[in-house]
Amino acid sequence: MERIGFIGLGIMGKPMAKNLVKAGYSLVVFDIVPGPVKELEAAGAKSAGNAKEVAAASDVVITMLPNSPDVREVVLGAGGVLEGARSGQVYVDMSSIDPIVAREVEAAVRKKGVVMLDAPVSGGEPKAIEGTLAIMVGGPADAFEKVQPILLKMGASAVLVGEIGSGNVAKLANQIVVALNIAAMSEALVLATKAGVDPEKVYQAIRGGLAGSTVLDAKAPMVLSRNFKPGFRIELHTKDLANALAAAHAVGSPVPLTSQAMEILQALKVDGREKEDHSSIVHFFEKLANVEVKKVS
Ligand code: NAD
Repeated sequence: MERIGFIGLGIMGKPMAKNLVKAGYSLVVFDIVPGPVKELEAAGAKSAGNAKEVAAASDVVITMLPNSPDVREVVLGAGGVLEGARSGQVYVDMSSIDPIVAREVEAAVRKKGVVMLDAPVSGGEPKAIEGTLAIMVGGPADAFEKVQPILLKMGASAVLVGEIGSGNVAKLANQIVVALNIAAMSEALVLATKAGVDPEKVYQAIRGGLAGSTVLDAKAPMVLSRNFKPGFRIELHTKDLANALAAAHAVGSPVPLTSQAMEILQALKVDGREKEDHSSIVHFFEKLANVEVKKVS
């Protein structure tokens, strides 16, 4: 069994790493925050002092970091993965980053003989805990086949989408669909409330029809119970839509709905809601209609 290095033990990385330990893999972990490292040690993992040490002690290195600059720094910076890496190693970045940066990092690690896959995920914290994430992968097929058993300990599906960067293009598509779904759900539940109809009954009535979705079932209950604890933070979704706008403009594919969703997220930032779950998008529509969507007890 491969020795796995795991860097970035946040909301997503911590349960993903725990599932690999549970599956019997030998894990070496690192995060700049000590709390989750201690939790992984208690679960049976070893820890390292930096990303370089993680790479030196592993056959496969996985990162789960916030955004493109973090991945650049952790892989290419001083004390980073590349310094500890050797030829033949596989590096899998599971963060959601700009596909162009994924390609840049791949070109840099390839010079040392390291094979890189970009493999962002969808499903949020609950599916990270269950090990049922949807994983979208870019990179060479042979490396994908090699790490597929590892990916399937964290996810229910792992699909090879195309060359390096394709995983993140798929993830940007995913994030557009999710943001617009939450916005549509919010607008609809605000309308129901303003029209004097119980929004929870409306949710129950429509969830089995064409409007039903994973997003609706994950986020409507949060809105109705006024629980905006992340989950997936507004600031991370803002990052994803910024990457989506840049990637779309770079290839000449206008994204008018995404730009509207981005402005909604900007308004929520002004309201100090960046650290809340993205179900907090409902606040934007509530403000417009001067009403609050909640369970009628
Ligand atoms: P998070 O902020 O909770 O976790 C990121 C972790 O990386 C933190 O523990 C942080 O300390 C660590 N880190 C940052 N810089 C570091 C460095 N230089 N060296 C070592 N560790 C470092 O974020 P998250 O919610 O776990 O998301 C991670 C990635 O997954 C993001 O790209 C996000 O967009 C994506 N994602 C998140 C969700 C979700 O629901 N939270 C769902 C799908 C995808």
